[in-house]
Amino acid sequence: MSNAPDSLPNDAGAWRDRDLAVVWHPCTQMKEHPGTLPLVPIRRGRGAWLEGVDGRRYLDAVSSWWTNLFGHAEPRIAAAIAAQAHELEHVIYAGFSHGPGLALAEALVAKAPRQAGREPLSRVFYADNGSAAIEVALKMSFHSHANRGDTRRTRFISLTNGYHGETLGALSMGDIPLYRRVYAPLLLEPLFAPSPDAYEAEPGETAEACALRRADQLAALLEAHAGTVCALVLEPLVQCAGGMRMFHPAYLRRARELCDAHGVHLVADEIAVGFGRTGTLFACEQAGIAPDFLCLSKGLTGGFLPMSAVLTTAHVYEAFLDDSRDRAFLHSHSYTGNPLGCAAALASLAIFDSDEVLVRNRGTAARMAELAAPLAAHPHVAEVRQTGMILAFEMAADAATKRPFPATDRRGLRAYRHAIERGVVLRPLGDILYWMPPYCVGEEELTHLAAVTASAIEEATAP
Ligand SMILES: *Cc1c(COP(=O)(O)O)cnc(C)c1O
Repeated sequence: MSNAPDSLPNDAGAWRDRDLAVVWHPCTQMKEHPGTLPLVPIRRGRGAWLEGVDGRRYLDAVSSWWTNLFGHAEPRIAAAIAAQAHELEHVIYAGFSHGPGLALAEALVAKAPRQAGREPLSRVFYADNGSAAIEVALKMSFHSHANRGDTRRTRFISLTNGYHGETLGALSMGDIPLYRRVYAPLLLEPLFAPSPDAYEAEPGETAEACALRRADQLAALLEAHAGTVCALVLEPLVQCAGGMRMFHPAYLRRARELCDAHGVHLVADEIAVGFGRTGTLFACEQAGIAPDFLCLSKGLTGGFLPMSAVLTTAHVYEAFLDDSRDRAFLHSHSYTGNPLGCAAALASLAIFDSDEVLVRNRGTAARMAELAAPLAAHPHVAEVRQTGMILAFEMAADAATKRPFPATDRRGLRAYRHAIERGVVLRPLGDILYWMPPYCVGEEELTHLAAVTASAIEEATAP
């Protein structure tokens, strides 16, 4: 049997048999294949669409796990990667430098969120994926405090319902039982501050009041653990894996002040919300704050290659400068600063400028809001919420009281299967359906998406 792709079947059923004989897919109960969840073999992607080996087309409403920005196989990014591959595919990044790595670091520093009176993010450390970026930020934060003689700072604060990745350190900072519970005996134990999630606001309480109430609880936690906390780790504005739960930027402003007052670093995990998803290039901009660490991945390469970057300040960087190697940040990944990833990221950033992406997205986001609005009145839709290019539908047994469906009903899965049969990828988070489409999504695609979402909700919430 040849390994060439053209020897693969174009019959989806035959494909599934071969695939399921050897591949272990991520975030999947493999026993559900092929019965409950048919595997969908894809041969190509164009724009917002994926094309199956059998020729069926699927609208990628979740941007392939929030990675894709401008559509699949975007020709300018593809060309940049191809050109770079013919020049230099990779080189050890300790002791060596290359054009794409340097240019990308300069571009990221120039575009990073700024805050008046605060030291800017001026240093870039590369890693391979989002989880690795979180590990880097945790280790750097701890180590920089220690290098300054502050060795009592050994703990982290993160938010309830947060998500920061799957490696042990990153998983430790997360609070989603589905991913965390089994591994709990292996994990670091952060202090969990209650999420400012506006869905959890008291009746009659505004999102802003809820955010400020939660910030007071963060203040109490910082007070109770004064001098022992390295950093607060959070996802600005939208807790994505936690169900696209959204919160008011007032929380970020207060959190920034509180971290400063307590000598605690602020780690902004913009792995999912960065690169325009929330309407601004970075979510922190909407609160007018800059973090001490900015973690970027997913959209960094426009969705082409696994890569991440951690931006930090000169203050953090300088804590590592010494004659002793012990004080250096000796963390590395074999593919640190991979030139292909950097070339993709540079091409992606260039598209933001040349195509005025954020301006166009404002129109797209407004259209998404219009199309979603009628569903807010559905008796099983407890909330339709939106931040920029992220829009979510919270399905519930009773919309008025927000009483959820029993988890065992697996309503979200019903919606998923309904949508995939109609050519739309609507991968739910529990009972939450969301739209996070590639930015190239057009009017026809959005109306199709809205129609399929409406029927999927109808079908999934039926008795
Ligand atoms: C996806 C995600 C991560 C982890 O990134 P991976 O590349 O999947 O390791 C971390 N934080 C947030 C907010 C994410 O959405």
